[in-house]
Amino acid sequence: MRKPKPRDADYQSICAIPQDAVVDPRGWAPERIILAKGVLDNPAYRAYVDRVLRQFPNAEVVEALDRSWNSADLLKGVPFAERFDLGKRTLVLGTRGRFITTFPGIFEDVRCPSFERSHFQDLCPFSCAYCYLTASTTSRMAPQVKIFVNLDDMFSEIATAVQRRGRLFLSAGELQDSLAIDWFAGQARRVVEFFAGVNAKVLFLTKSDKVDGILDADHRGHTILSWSLNTDKITRTIEAGTAPLARRLDAARRAQAAGYPIRYRIDPILADGPDWTPGRDAEYRDAVRAAFDAARPERVTLGSFRAVDGCKNAHEARVQAGRVERAVTDRALAKIGGDRRWRFKDELRFAMYHSIISEIRALDPEVPIALCKETLEFWHRLGLDPTSCKCNCVDEGVDLTLDPSNPARTPARGGDPITNRYRAGSTSGATHSEDDDA
Ligand code: SF4
Repeated sequence: MRKPKPRDADYQSICAIPQDAVVDPRGWAPERIILAKGVLDNPAYRAYVDRVLRQFPNAEVVEALDRSWNSADLLKGVPFAERFDLGKRTLVLGTRGRFITTFPGIFEDVRCPSFERSHFQDLCPFSCAYCYLTASTTSRMAPQVKIFVNLDDMFSEIATAVQRRGRLFLSAGELQDSLAIDWFAGQARRVVEFFAGVNAKVLFLTKSDKVDGILDADHRGHTILSWSLNTDKITRTIEAGTAPLARRLDAARRAQAAGYPIRYRIDPILADGPDWTPGRDAEYRDAVRAAFDAARPERVTLGSFRAVDGCKNAHEARVQAGRVERAVTDRALAKIGGDRRWRFKDELRFAMYHSIISEIRALDPEVPIALCKETLEFWHRLGLDPTSCKCNCVDEGVDLTLDPSNPARTPARGGDPITNRYRAGSTSGATHSEDDDA
């Protein structure tokens, strides 16, 4: 192992990246690797760290062994617009204590089911202009890409939970891209094979095409691969560094051929002005046809752009700093919903959903379609059934109409009680934005 430099090294070099720098996942290389608390604690971790370091011989290695993975923030004093993007040039190797956490769900006029998640990494190397995670606590404190080296601890926590509760469904794609850095992190296959051996399922969500490491893994259908999709143009401009649409879909096609259950998430649907233009409409219809050509998803989830204040402000700051393309125009937005997010105005939102749903229905009249963080009114107006929400993040259908404050009305589904449980969502921007999807 190379000898790490001391922690108080000069960090100015990391701030000198060109403003138009784009992270390319095919050749993504961290400029700095931070070793956080616990990563050198046993020979297995040290061997893993050594393996990662060997792949990036030019990266500066910084020891911060007294700092935990989420406080290894070495970018203090850097303005936020730069901080978030600069963090993407740094990799933190750390250990995590507790892995399983719960998204409590939202029960206001905007509805979302509760679900559980377990991440083996944090954040991603991409640079989506609208990134919902810009306002999250972890992004503000430590915006670097992170890998947790103690996978075995995650496995034993999950195994214990399965033993106690019988079965489990976990998302590993909400606060990380599940596959973006797998080409060097090499964790996905271990995760897939672990889940194959327990009574539990895991959901991977990605904007990458990095499936090679898991295609021939023994998954037994316990790993669901979900692609976050957008139009070809948006994937090439606003979602900088991600795999363009065609490459994501080719990966989905190969994954389905390998027997993986596939889901699609078209999110965020973006208008190119205050109206739903024929050009943007055609782009989305093309994307839907290409997606169904590549693979048959078991379900599709739609989400229109939605941002808490912090996320919207971060987007504006990054646009002003010339770091990202503008994703939305203010004229199209209003604060809509009890969760106080910026959304496209009702007429525009309805037009975009209606158009995309009609294209999906022409290709597949049966596939379950769900809305992410949307009102019950929209579920009804669009002819969707909110009493059996089969969205990307859950296993079985969840009834979004039931009031969790009245437990007598909460259905007993005989499955995982957690995934069918609601809680009134906090309306604080920080909480919600942290729970948004990667
Ligand atoms: S939106 Fe998701 S994929 Fe894009 S930069 Fe943010 S975390 Fe990464």
